[in-house]
Amino acid sequence: LSEQLEGACLCGSVTYSSSGPALATINCHCRDCQKQTGSAFSTMVAVPADRFEVTGETLSSFTTIGTDTGEEAVRHFCRGCGSPLFTRAAVAPGLVFIKAGTLTDPSGLQPVADAWCDSAQTWVSLPEERLRMPRGPSAKQLAALGPA
Ligand SMILES: [Zn+2]
Ligand SMILES: [Zn+2]
Repeated sequence: LSEQLEGACLCGSVTYSSSGPALATINCHCRDCQKQTGSAFSTMVAVPADRFEVTGETLSSFTTIGTDTGEEAVRHFCRGCGSPLFTRAAVAPGLVFIKAGTLTDPSGLQPVADAWCDSAQTWVSLPEERLRMPRGPSAKQLAALGPA
């Protein structure tokens, strides 16, 4: 995976770029991600917030409160086409979590962990060798990814 990442929503109105580095790719199986993506889980690439830029007038956001953390998660999406684009979490202000499917080229990604396995759907198989977190990553685990 190259340092430079670029992506866009389905209609193309919102575009973003990260001058990297991509710190980790994680699958999140929490109910909020299932709802927001309309799918079984969300694949996210963590990048440093200070290296991330986004443009587009249709960028909107929706804020939820984390079940465990009690902290805000702000989910950014395109109000034109509905694509979820990235999330900012109060527990990790130095990171942006890009929704992997919106990348121009998501083909080289290798998820390192499955988070919120407690609410993972039974019809999704998880590889034995990948790290499984019963719930969300701890602040310590997130801090280990990079800038806090
Ligand atoms: Zn769009
Ligand atoms: Zn989630």
